[in-house]
Amino acid sequence: MNEIILLKLGEVVLKGLNRRSFEDKLTSNIRRRLTHYGSFRVYSKQSTIYVEPQDGACDLEGAYAACRQVFGVVAVTRARPCPKDKDAMFHCARNYLDRELRAAQTFKVETKRADKKFPMNSMEISQYVGGLLHDEYPHLRVDVHQPDLRVHVEVREKAAYVHGPTQPGAGGLPIGMGGTAVSLLSGGIDSPVSSYMIAKRGVQLELVHFFSPPYTSQQALEKVCALAGELTGWCGRMTLHIVPFTEIQEAIRRDCPEDHFTLIMRRFMMRLAEGVARRTGAKALVTGECLGQVASQTMDALTVSGQVCQLPVLRPVIGMDKEEIIRISRRIGTFETSILPYEDCCTVFTPRHPKTHPHLDEVLAYEQALDIGGLVQRALDGVERRTIAMGK
Ligand code: ATP
Ligand code: MG
Repeated sequence: MNEIILLKLGEVVLKGLNRRSFEDKLTSNIRRRLTHYGSFRVYSKQSTIYVEPQDGACDLEGAYAACRQVFGVVAVTRARPCPKDKDAMFHCARNYLDRELRAAQTFKVETKRADKKFPMNSMEISQYVGGLLHDEYPHLRVDVHQPDLRVHVEVREKAAYVHGPTQPGAGGLPIGMGGTAVSLLSGGIDSPVSSYMIAKRGVQLELVHFFSPPYTSQQALEKVCALAGELTGWCGRMTLHIVPFTEIQEAIRRDCPEDHFTLIMRRFMMRLAEGVARRTGAKALVTGECLGQVASQTMDALTVSGQVCQLPVLRPVIGMDKEEIIRISRRIGTFETSILPYEDCCTVFTPRHPKTHPHLDEVLAYEQALDIGGLVQRALDGVERRTIAMGK
């Protein structure tokens, strides 16, 4: 029988009555992720999702890598099905894991008997298969505590499955179970990480990027699109809302005190993000803000910039050190793109001495000089939407 992929469900199994809808969502997310890799049958049974290639043209390697990025899955393994017969299980283990069995010094067979009608219990199956493997590979010793190789045998409804070590899955909850949020994506290191972290909790993201031509270049915009593309492996297909920001930045520079420039600009970002949320039905905003990282991220500054919106602002990296954020960014594959040296609208017109402890009433007074409603409306009218499709 052909090799398949087995996925173990994470927290979804804890969700009581919601479990069915979680499993359905996860299964459909997996199906969508696998469209690039050939034709697969995907179904769930007993806290396990089965991914079975339907023909020889399937790219199992690619599908396996894609499955490791799907939220809601705690462990992933490739496995070989075989008939539910003790000798068939042994032969399957020997053939399928021959290379691993030769390389290991110590091993252990672990059996899971999900089919309670199977005549042997899991201990008996482990002993039987382990005994025959031991005869076949006399160099191997059994180590039940820390074996080099764990041979897994799972006796399930339709068949038995043999596999070696499982690898961790992406964890989290299936995308779509947690509603939709608007994530503010700059070209930096932090916001791809914050987007990933919120998506991991089952949230579908709408991405927003503010760009300020001619102060920010086409390459800077392409860099953000590339980051969004890198996130699709985790977050699925998304829409990037590209918001023209030049008029707003020029108006602030012209009419407001320099030391308040960044702060007032950030208030516009939040208003516009909320505007996009209203259009898309999103229920929260997400930023990569981190306490104390820059002048606009002190508690006072966050209070003043958050004050313009009604929706909750989720800031998953708020308490992290840069090093910790970078570690995640490397792991999820966005770091190399994030450090490409292009300008962001936050880096144009930056004040020499930004206000770190602003007062709301002062800020409100300065904003009187601006036509806030008109500026926001024109920016929202000029939004360009790009679909960020999942790459292979
Ligand atoms: P860095 O790694 O350089 O800190 P950053 O993404 O955190 O990158 P900041 O200037 O610290 O950049 O901005 C704080 C947050 O504001 C970002 O995490 C992001 O959510 C949002 N933001 C900043 N600039 C933009 C932009 N041009 N478009 C969309 N969101 C932005
Ligand atoms: Mg930052």
